[in-house]
Amino acid sequence: MSKIVLLVIAFAAALWLVRGLRKRSNDKAATPAPPGAEDMVRCMHCGVHLPRGESVVSEQQYFCSAQHQRDFRQPR
Ligand SMILES: [Zn+2]
Repeated sequence: MSKIVLLVIAFAAALWLVRGLRKRSNDKAATPAPPGAEDMVRCMHCGVHLPRGESVVSEQQYFCSAQHQRDFRQPR
């Protein structure tokens, strides 16, 4: 009987270990590009920060999207 209990505990421990390792590797994969790799700019309309490469630039002003560029020029 005690053998079965030991087996269950060992199985649970192995499962917990595998799950922990998997979670750690997932965290690593989800990590974005290292900070400072690209300049961050601020949307002039909503103030959100985004990489310069993903921003819409207009007259040296940065926007998170073309929609916000339009909204900034013509506020409703
Ligand atoms: Zn915006």
